[in-house]
Amino acid sequence: MADNAAETEHERSSSSESEEEYLFKVVVIGDSAVGKSNLLSRYARGEFNPQSKATIGVEFQTQSVEVDNGREVKAQIWDTAGQERFRAVTSAYYRGAFGALVVYDISRRLTFDGVKRWIDELNMHSDTTIARILVGNKSDLEHIREVSVEEGKSLAEAEEMFFMETSALDSTNVKEAFEMVIREIYNNVSRKVL
Ligand code: GDP
Repeated sequence: MADNAAETEHERSSSSESEEEYLFKVVVIGDSAVGKSNLLSRYARGEFNPQSKATIGVEFQTQSVEVDNGREVKAQIWDTAGQERFRAVTSAYYRGAFGALVVYDISRRLTFDGVKRWIDELNMHSDTTIARILVGNKSDLEHIREVSVEEGKSLAEAEEMFFMETSALDSTNVKEAFEMVIREIYNNVSRKVL
């Protein structure tokens, strides 16, 4: 019994060490109304909100993710919460980020055209080696699609990013997109550290 208690205590302390060691900041960027907030609320809380939110200011959610060897890492995922409407996303938002999701809406070409500016801004404020994924959201709106899967893929390839189409509405690929970035961050960090 004493042995068991000691073992449990050991497991607890080593797991809290690893949580402290691995807390990664991830930012979500892209034009207004592409679904950034809903992607995050779908991923973190399983919620979808059909109304555009009114709040302004940075919000974040913390998520634990099990990486391939069974180890848990935490990601602190930041949402612009509407600030991008005023082009008010500042360097503080990007500071310390290890990963980024650059989001557009597959049913609005203008938001795809806007991606380049977001990538430039990301490159200006962060290391180009951070884990990045291009996300074409609202894949449920196939009937009014304006950007093909191929266009998304080839832009991502040119920018050396991962690529995925998602739907915050029906949950398609939401977990997968966030966790692709988080696992890549972990791989990058462990390659450098271990
Ligand atoms: P943000 O400004 O980029 O954070 O976008 P929001 O998350 O506020 O979403 C903008 C609008 O698009 C809202 O009306 C959402 O309900 C809607 N929306 C978000 N994601 C999806 C999606 O995957 N599919 C559809 N059909 N609508 C979505």
